[in-house]
Amino acid sequence: MSPKGKIQSINLNYRALHPVIVLIYGCMRAGKTEQLFHQIENALQQLGKRRVVIFKPYLDDRTGSEIRSRAFDHSYEAHVIKKPEEVFDHDLDPSSLVIFDELQFYPKGITSVAEELCGRGHTIIAAGLDKKHDGSPFLSTEAMAKIAPLHIHLVATCHGLNMTCENGATNSFRKSANEADFEIGDDSYDSLCEDCFERAMIAHGRRTVTDRTIIAA
Ligand SMILES: [Zn+2]
Repeated sequence: MSPKGKIQSINLNYRALHPVIVLIYGCMRAGKTEQLFHQIENALQQLGKRRVVIFKPYLDDRTGSEIRSRAFDHSYEAHVIKKPEEVFDHDLDPSSLVIFDELQFYPKGITSVAEELCGRGHTIIAAGLDKKHDGSPFLSTEAMAKIAPLHIHLVATCHGLNMTCENGATNSFRKSANEADFEIGDDSYDSLCEDCFERAMIAHGRRTVTDRTIIAA
């Protein structure tokens, strides 16, 4: 298995790592899933299948009980859970790596579960979006960032300003006017840099110039 695109892998030695929380975060199309798949692949080679346990939230119903990477053209089986505490219902090998995909779908109390798991000897990888469509933080990712010692912050390429901008994108701009926190699907969003994001928000009437002044202050 190998990714179709060029994705820089960060190699972690899971056998030597003391229990730790690793956070992979960024906007849409930043390569979070690809980086997560690199980590899963590395961990499977180092720890074996029984010691790599993947959880995905019930709210993400796109791919059933699998997590899928387009770049790798591959999927892994995951346990679907409604609440983070449900991980304790599973008989986890004490040395296993525990993975939470789509972190933004969980309540921020997932940090207590992650800390409890760390205390029991598990290393945790949590991956997800850090910002909502309006630029405000997803509370679970924000809370996890405060307790996770290892951060992998990934940035997409901005295609704003009529596709001429190539700055690093850190925002997920929702193309529709839906104001719900969640609208699932990569195609519903453009990945934009800070400047293009603020311009787009103003152009679509979702920010006033005054809002922008406050944000910039
Ligand atoms: Zn831009």
